[in-house]
Amino acid sequence: MKFSDYNSIRVRDVNRVAIHADGEYVLYWMQAYRRLQYNHALEFALSEAERLKKPILIYEGLRMDYPWSSERIHQFILEGYLDNKQEAKELGLAYLPYVETSKVSRNKILFELSQKACMVVTDDFPAFITPIQISKLSSRIQCALFAVDSNGIIPLANYGDVAGAARILRFRVHKLFPSSYIHKSIKISKSDLKKIPALNPESLNKYRDSIFPCTEKSIREALQDSRFESSVPSVKGIRGGRKEALRILDEFISKKVNDYATQRSIPSSPEEGSSSLLSPYLHFGNISIDEILEKVLNYKRKSIWAPDLLNESSRGKREGYFHENDSINSFLDELLTWRDIGYLFFFKKPEFRKGLSVLPNWLQENLKKHNRDKREYLYSKKDLEKAKTHDELWNAAQLELVHTGRMHNYLRMLWAKKIIEWTKDYATAYEYLEDLNNKYAYDGRDPNSYTGILWSFGLFDRPWYPERNVFGTIRYMSSDSTKKKFKVKPYLEYIKSITPGEGNLFG
Ligand SMILES: Cc1cc2nc3c(=O)[nH]c(=O)nc-3n(C[C@H](O)[C@H](O)[C@H](O)COP(=O)(O)OP(=O)(O)OC[C@H]3O[C@@H](n4cnc5c(N)ncnc54)[C@H](O)[C@@H]3O)c2cc1C
Repeated sequence: MKFSDYNSIRVRDVNRVAIHADGEYVLYWMQAYRRLQYNHALEFALSEAERLKKPILIYEGLRMDYPWSSERIHQFILEGYLDNKQEAKELGLAYLPYVETSKVSRNKILFELSQKACMVVTDDFPAFITPIQISKLSSRIQCALFAVDSNGIIPLANYGDVAGAARILRFRVHKLFPSSYIHKSIKISKSDLKKIPALNPESLNKYRDSIFPCTEKSIREALQDSRFESSVPSVKGIRGGRKEALRILDEFISKKVNDYATQRSIPSSPEEGSSSLLSPYLHFGNISIDEILEKVLNYKRKSIWAPDLLNESSRGKREGYFHENDSINSFLDELLTWRDIGYLFFFKKPEFRKGLSVLPNWLQENLKKHNRDKREYLYSKKDLEKAKTHDELWNAAQLELVHTGRMHNYLRMLWAKKIIEWTKDYATAYEYLEDLNNKYAYDGRDPNSYTGILWSFGLFDRPWYPERNVFGTIRYMSSDSTKKKFKVKPYLEYIKSITPGEGNLFG
């Protein structure tokens, strides 16, 4: 198996240390793209293992003390372990799953494994704790460490500088798409691995007691034995992992994608709505953009889709470029342009996560002018968290987030705009938004969490007139206009049905 020259731009040499040709194996430290298929980082590790004639060892680890840690997030990740273990077994790959609990202390497994490795390969996810974890390991180990970008179909390093508006990035996405699609990641089969020697099982003997058993029972025990930052429970009916991600993708393609362009914005329950529900699985790396594209572009086709079917006369436009079906174009615009604009920001500007300081000048001036405008309503974080406001639609959206770990996309925009309107200043609003989103949402702690929140402060948008109190020229949204635009009663009924113990929810 050979890693293509085209994709070598995805590989970042983190510590510029030599590869140890006499090491025991190539170590793949899976920390963000939690899957064994369609994964450039794993493909790079496998191609290096083949070149060095060494076995491969896949290490997947989970600590208890990450920011916003909770049973909700933990269970979702651990369910993914079950699928990864099974897939590793089917492919004949050595897989070492490890989970820290109060009984299984955080030991030095990763560091020790690195000491015996020829090289370590890991995931170059640009947000949350991943960049910090990479630089920590880099400063401690003596062998080469490579971080590989498997974030999307287009290598982030190919995009050039950050884009201040979606239309700017859209043009680059369309230009780079054909060659990136040709070199997309692959579904690995056993025959791809036949030149890679098997790992001697004795190499892992030392870790026998620390290996996570990957059963439903061991997940329950690990959750009981963990100490979390937040007491956010998992959600009945939501399951993490690759199998569930693929099931959801199939359901989206067979039942929903056709209505995506016209129905996606109508507030509705996840079952009634037309969006894919894939964001948690993308966030935790259970599924890759490449395979979603492959399936969606081949929707209802008799022959295999190829980039020569792209409509070059629509290059740079939201409609018409990828497909004759408008819904597919609309979905791919979100999946590629809107998703990558945030990933690119994080990739290029690590300070992005600091918040409002990244907003452009026109917004900085706007914020300065309206920061302390008098607010008609002021709510504490507790009021907001408990959905105790005067606005029934807002309360419903907040309850959806708390009870299901999701929030309908259109309402997510409204939700954020209202928090800006109902808190004493912008910095407080930003702090509440980051915390509530990342604490409750399955897909939180992602580059898109920050671009979504910052979009509500005007990022990637234009000035809107007339100038208003609190918002200045930032786009304004209201629950009343949302109710005029859409029939929201079924959505409110849905929220009531999933929150029966909440009493008088709305007001
Ligand atoms: C205040 C606010 C906070 C947000 N926080 C998050 C977050 O924490 N994590 C997150 O993944 N998204 C976030 N978004 C973006 C968007 O709401 C979600 O990506 C989308 O609702 C996920 O549902 P889906 O998978 O069904 O999306 P679909 O509509 O099916 O879209 C498919 C995929 O495209 C991407 N996508 C869709 N819409 C957007 C968008 N507006 N911006 C960036 N990428 C998009 C996502 O990866 C999504 O899974 C936020 C938006 C706002 C306004």
